[in-house]
Amino acid sequence: MTLFLYDTFSKSKREFRPIDPKNIRMYVCGPTVYDYAHVGNARPVIVFDTLFRIMRHSYGVDHVTYVRNITDIDDKIIEAANSNKEDISSLTSRTIQYFHEDASYIGALVPTIEPKATDHIKEMVEMIETLIVKGFAYEVDGNVLFSSSKYDQYGKLSGKNIDELIAGARVDIEDFKKEASDFILWKPSKDNEPGWESPWGKGRPGWHIECSAMSKKYLGDTFDIHGGGQDLIFPHHENEIAQSECCHEKKFANYWLHNGFLTVEGNKMAKSNGNFITVNELKDRYHGEVIRLAMLMTHYRQPLNWTENSLLESKKILNKWFSFFLDIEISKVDEDFVDESILSALKDDINTPKAISELHQLFKNCTKEDVLSIKKFINSARLLGLMLSSPKEWMEWNVRENNLDEIKINELIEKRNLLRDQGNYSDADKIRDQLDELEIILEDKDGKTTWKQKN
Ligand SMILES: [Zn+2]
Repeated sequence: MTLFLYDTFSKSKREFRPIDPKNIRMYVCGPTVYDYAHVGNARPVIVFDTLFRIMRHSYGVDHVTYVRNITDIDDKIIEAANSNKEDISSLTSRTIQYFHEDASYIGALVPTIEPKATDHIKEMVEMIETLIVKGFAYEVDGNVLFSSSKYDQYGKLSGKNIDELIAGARVDIEDFKKEASDFILWKPSKDNEPGWESPWGKGRPGWHIECSAMSKKYLGDTFDIHGGGQDLIFPHHENEIAQSECCHEKKFANYWLHNGFLTVEGNKMAKSNGNFITVNELKDRYHGEVIRLAMLMTHYRQPLNWTENSLLESKKILNKWFSFFLDIEISKVDEDFVDESILSALKDDINTPKAISELHQLFKNCTKEDVLSIKKFINSARLLGLMLSSPKEWMEWNVRENNLDEIKINELIEKRNLLRDQGNYSDADKIRDQLDELEIILEDKDGKTTWKQKN
């Protein structure tokens, strides 16, 4: 089955033809680590993790290299560390840990390689030196800039016109820039700022060069897929293309994928709007799979409106699914058994809303007696990174989340069973009613009583 992906560069859905089917290479811009990840940051993590899963399924687990970088040097990081009165390295390592916890919470696999910018300064310096030698970059007072007008294809990804960019720029551009559209490759660091020795003095890299240097190191001059949020198309990805293609004189990435914007209850998310939601704070209220399903219900290229209702809807769906499988051993399901209609939806430009509607259909056809129907449902859901928890884990989480006291529930069940053994059915039924009010349903089977929450 052929995979089609929408390529921002050609503005069309294209058949995916890998450079090397034995090694699919994908680079996605990762987080700048100075604060908790918000739901907008979580979107590309989930979207590209889903693509990673589709690729692993199609080409084999060992034939996909997924690189997602960590930007651990940046002005925002320096500012945040100063305002926290904290060491930069302590801020970044703490934030990286939060990010990893959040990514795992929303069911994202660990990428093949997760390079940190500060571990690749040497590669960045080498690339900048090459760009200077080739005449695409110039130095002024410890700053090195990319000369955008020297690259005649500048603007080809975003569709921006360089003359308009120059004409439309602020008049008071920094005096070290020859043109307003030139961008920083390297800049000097003050004494109290982190810096590395370089041919242009102590300084630090610009943001764009990080991704060009790290993708080159791990994926080569040309690789298959470059991804990120739509907001990165310009200037970040445009600048990555300029640097890499001028340095290596080869095409940079064959497919450009971008996920759409995210709003919260219809409004732009911003700290000043009071609607800034971090993944970390959602953890108290929602299971990670709820967050993931809510995200995947919208196609990745569409704007996503994040609402409490969509979370509640996702929770209801997952509760229905998990409750059904409560007494079935899910871990014994074969890995490679996936429903064709779901696979074809996912291979049609990662159409997750269509795949989810197919999952509903598949669930309707599930019966506990038909192992095949169960295998198909579970494996297909897992291709989207869903149904990865065990039903038992889900129920335990639900209990915690609803502040139900599991010990108390079990005590009540024991008491009820004792009353039944004694023939006191009326008091036993009273306990059943009491649990019913707590939305707990009892099931008596083979002399054992199990319980679950109402859907
Ligand atoms: Zn990047």
